[in-house]
Amino acid sequence: MIDLWYKNAVLYCVDVGSFADGNGDGIGDFRGLSERLPYLAGIGITCVWLLPFYPSPRKDDGYDIDDYYGVDPRYGSLGDFVDFMNQASELGIRVIVDLVVNHTSSTHPWFQAARKDASSPYRDWYVWSKRKPKDAESGVVFPGVQRTTWTYDRLARAYYFHRFYDFQPDLNTGHPEVRQEIERIMGFWLQLGVTGFRIDAVPFLIMDKAPNDPAGYEQYGYLSDWRRFLAWREGHAIMLGEADVAPRDTLNFIGEDDRLNLLFNFWANQHLFLAMATEDARPLVKAFSDLPKLPPTAQWANFLRNNDELDLGRLSDEERARCMQAFAPEPDMQLYGRGIRRRLAPMLQGDRRRLELLNSLLFTLGGTPVIRYGEEIAMGDDMRLSERNAIRTAMQWSGEPNGGFSECAPKRLQVPTISAGEYRYERVNVANQRLDFNSFLNWTEHAIRTRKECPEFGWGEMQFLETDKSSVMAHACTWRDRTVVAVHNFSRASTTVRVKWPKDAGRLLHIFGRSVHEALPEGSHVIDMDGYDYRWLRISPKAQ
Ligand code: MG
Repeated sequence: MIDLWYKNAVLYCVDVGSFADGNGDGIGDFRGLSERLPYLAGIGITCVWLLPFYPSPRKDDGYDIDDYYGVDPRYGSLGDFVDFMNQASELGIRVIVDLVVNHTSSTHPWFQAARKDASSPYRDWYVWSKRKPKDAESGVVFPGVQRTTWTYDRLARAYYFHRFYDFQPDLNTGHPEVRQEIERIMGFWLQLGVTGFRIDAVPFLIMDKAPNDPAGYEQYGYLSDWRRFLAWREGHAIMLGEADVAPRDTLNFIGEDDRLNLLFNFWANQHLFLAMATEDARPLVKAFSDLPKLPPTAQWANFLRNNDELDLGRLSDEERARCMQAFAPEPDMQLYGRGIRRRLAPMLQGDRRRLELLNSLLFTLGGTPVIRYGEEIAMGDDMRLSERNAIRTAMQWSGEPNGGFSECAPKRLQVPTISAGEYRYERVNVANQRLDFNSFLNWTEHAIRTRKECPEFGWGEMQFLETDKSSVMAHACTWRDRTVVAVHNFSRASTTVRVKWPKDAGRLLHIFGRSVHEALPEGSHVIDMDGYDYRWLRISPKAQ
């Protein structure tokens, strides 16, 4: 049987450069990350997802790659990477890496060869047009910052296509040699021990990019080819896809268990924030009912915040306005006309109850939880930094200079730290929270431990239970005849709620929540909940 490890993994997203500096040169590196792996193992992380660490001019946070077969020298060497992989393996932590092959950097040797010589074998690896296509101004990814998707190159005497910034020319994935090269890249990192890939910009990656066919359409078969390749090389390897698509399109990306294993749940994410903003659970329940049932080996990857803006582009204008009003009232906190560029804790004004509520949902909603570095200590952001960089500050390890991130002189620091305000590293850091029994770090560790004791949340079937309050959501996850239930109150007001448990429910044992509660006796359908309260319960079978 296929090992479905990823359905119950706890993923942690790391930016190597911002996490820990092991050699004191002011930038994070693999040596620093290796030293911090026991910390990640300690809080219960089972899989680390590395953001791009490849050689790159880093004009787009490393999503502009120069060489797919190397490590950015600022982060260390391939040798340091292998040492890191060895340490991770010793601790039982799997590693997946970002695969960014929708485009390269414009400085990549393939693009340089392609633009200089029309007869270069690399010419067709990119997408060219003699004339500027009519739709060049539509479909930009960064409105307000990016103006076009076609830019003229003087050397090539042609326009090249770039879905993202002009320094990120799109690879022509319609070309068989490009797809073979993508497999070679995957094969290389698999051989170095990774267990899969987080695939960047999937809908764009598989889009037919021929300039004469502006409608374009998706080539889902590429995903099947790559899945087959992974299965041949390494049976446990997975593909986690970034695809913010409408619910009706999701199954195309999953296929019949033969395309992506995991898909980020953007749809639920946006409606989760809508439910929080309106203190009404119904938008979230509705969001899950909009989503198709996934085949058995596929899984949602649930998250609260990722490395980009919190994209609310799939909500209606009115719904989005509600979220902005609640979480990003100043124009400077918003981005690209669709999202929020803040960390979670400042969005919630540091409200511990709501932080716990959201994270409790992250760990209980059907799917695999993905934590972004720093969320476990409720880190803040820096609105003075440009665009998405506001949330890409150094990990806060202690109250020492540079927040314990690096031993270099503060002047030499190459990654911004938060040294002022409510979220400064003197106040918010790992060392302090370790010592404080009631810290958010200890809460997270406890939540992860409990989640691992309840495999039903990951492997099970999720079902929403009827409640008589629109602010309260209850859901059950069942696997191998065992059921766990989670109840969440989205309202600030305390309430007494009636929940319709599954019909063969006996006693309900309280397993996690804000405070200790007695088990609910069989036949009891009413729970008292405080504002923003949450409970995880295990159902015992009915007494015979
Ligand atoms: Mg360093």
